[in-house]
Amino acid sequence: MQTIRTTCPYCGVGCGVLATPDGKGGLGIAGDPDHPANRGRLCVKGSALGETVGHGGRLLAPRIHGREAGWDEALDLVAHRFRDTIAEHGPDSVGFYVSGQLLTEDYYVANKLMKGFIGSANIDTNSRLCMASAVAGHRRAFGTDTVPGLYEDLELADTVVLVGSNLAWCHPVLYQRLAAAREARGTRVVVVDPRRAASCDIADLHLALAPGADAALFNLLLAEIARRGLAGGDAAAHLDGFDEALAAARGTLPSATGLAHSQLRQFFDLWCGSDKVVTVWSQGVNQSDSGTDKVNAILNCHLASGRIGRPGMGPFSVTGQPNAMGGREVGGLANMLACHLEIENPAHREAVRGFWNAPRMAERPGLKAVDMFRAVEDGRIKALWIICTNPAATMPEADRVARAIAGCDFVAVSDIMARTDTTRLAHVLLPATGWGEKDGTVTNSERRISRQRRTLAPAGQARDDWRILAEVGCRMGWADAFGWTSPAQVFAEHAALSGIAGGLGSDFDISAHAGITAAEYDALGPFLWPQSAGRQGGRFFGDGRFHTPSGRARMVAVTPRPPQPVDADHPFRLNTGRVRDHWHTMTRTGLSPRLSRHLAEPFLELHPSDAARLDLTPASLAEVCGPHGRAVLRVLVTDRVAPGHPFAPMHWTGETAPSGRIDALVPGTVDPVSGQPALKSATVAIRPF
Ligand code: SF4
Repeated sequence: MQTIRTTCPYCGVGCGVLATPDGKGGLGIAGDPDHPANRGRLCVKGSALGETVGHGGRLLAPRIHGREAGWDEALDLVAHRFRDTIAEHGPDSVGFYVSGQLLTEDYYVANKLMKGFIGSANIDTNSRLCMASAVAGHRRAFGTDTVPGLYEDLELADTVVLVGSNLAWCHPVLYQRLAAAREARGTRVVVVDPRRAASCDIADLHLALAPGADAALFNLLLAEIARRGLAGGDAAAHLDGFDEALAAARGTLPSATGLAHSQLRQFFDLWCGSDKVVTVWSQGVNQSDSGTDKVNAILNCHLASGRIGRPGMGPFSVTGQPNAMGGREVGGLANMLACHLEIENPAHREAVRGFWNAPRMAERPGLKAVDMFRAVEDGRIKALWIICTNPAATMPEADRVARAIAGCDFVAVSDIMARTDTTRLAHVLLPATGWGEKDGTVTNSERRISRQRRTLAPAGQARDDWRILAEVGCRMGWADAFGWTSPAQVFAEHAALSGIAGGLGSDFDISAHAGITAAEYDALGPFLWPQSAGRQGGRFFGDGRFHTPSGRARMVAVTPRPPQPVDADHPFRLNTGRVRDHWHTMTRTGLSPRLSRHLAEPFLELHPSDAARLDLTPASLAEVCGPHGRAVLRVLVTDRVAPGHPFAPMHWTGETAPSGRIDALVPGTVDPVSGQPALKSATVAIRPF
């Protein structure tokens, strides 16, 4: 059988995969040696992809109120309910909640339908839970949501700092590249994480800082950069806000970090002593009620010292999901327009409106994820379409979100699986093609666009998400705008729009592909953006020019804020995260017994002193209760976590309590700038079950 080049559907590393159909519905899997992201490597999740493509548990046909229905009937019903709701209650009475696992073409169509034709910006995504604070921090500092660097910077750096990023488990191939560079050239690695996570295995220094103290740590670093005379110079000519940011930094007390003076000194020496330093961050920074400030505290240090946009140096946000970046490019967040244009900017709105020939353009930002489900709860949103995600399990206050969805007048869910915490709440279920069954593109954390390719026939009657959305758009009366017949045509339209955006100052420009043919799309190899006539890939900002109106970067004065305090009823602060071998709510990885061998059930990492105090022994069961819900977890006694700061993974679901569904415990508190929820900080009580 022919081997097909495609891309892994899991994390934001975006590894190239060689998939070889076995002719019996299965796939042989290998890493693509020619893909720049992984150069042949795969982690255990990627290498097990062939074990996850069976049809067990798949949604194979449309369903209306539980009974099997034809596609025409289901699509007519979705279009009719959305059209009627909008006619009666206005465009803001409907919403789409989508996913960083959609392909860019799917995402583009969803965004166009909601923002240009329905006339609301009530489209948000589970990427809000992942990297919205990175987006907001980039936009504050650079003027645009731009990742300046490339993966190879981790290999060219002398020092790499991982902040709130368990790269070893969450971005394993990037970790392998870093570990290999460390072996080859002695790269020094610092891990900043309250928990001694697996990434500490290669750390020269582990800073187990106080939870939420990242901004304090980087404020102290900024003050030290200035004290050592490393700030200013050429870099200062390209900065606004330096004095204010430094004044705020100088007001930060070292005690806020919970670290010893000697540890801080070691960190400062490593960071300041390396010209080539990369600071990688992920959810430990973003998933916080002050995530955007934390991001800007990191960016401040790189901006002030000029360590940005050149080989081996820069701040680097790594995204959790395979296409969080593609979602950002199409404007899949409620507060963005397509191609990194701004919804608040009239000229940007007019350009997109004109390009789409849009009858009703959204004029203001829509509801972000947490607010969107609050609007579902109180009836402001009366028709909701959930696509490729499982919010009844993964949103903060998940029980409340599940109740809100259950009470909504009309809920359509597009999914590959028949039975999830969310599909059971739907009025209409639409079967979607899964990885291996669909064509499109994804963008990884270094801005590299790669093709996912169809290698298998769709399961049952499943259809591609872009097509399902387009068919609803046609049925709502906009056949001219949604009449594509292939994802290549959608990609070409997106690329053409990016050229217009580039003319308005957007950094996202892939207009070189605006005229792409079906054959060229089939053959499209991985490429970095921008891809305009004057610029082909590479880094941003090394020339000191930023995307703000002044062309100067903006440093932000950051006043660190500790997380919400624990109280007598809920005296523990629960940290949450991923395990190495599972992905999201395990709809795919749960199909592989091999992947479940690593960690087979939901667990609670508990410090020995806490376990002794609570009379909990290893492998016993603990009931974990918060103000919003409860979970029951297997106790794992370990000094990887600090006293009072247990950890639990986020993958397990369950339709009835008690379960390992830990997002039921997490509060709906959000960062005020980005709207990203504080998923890493739930105050809980723990007792034997
Ligand atoms: Fe897939 Fe990420 Fe593993 Fe690469 S590192 S194989 S993209 S899960």
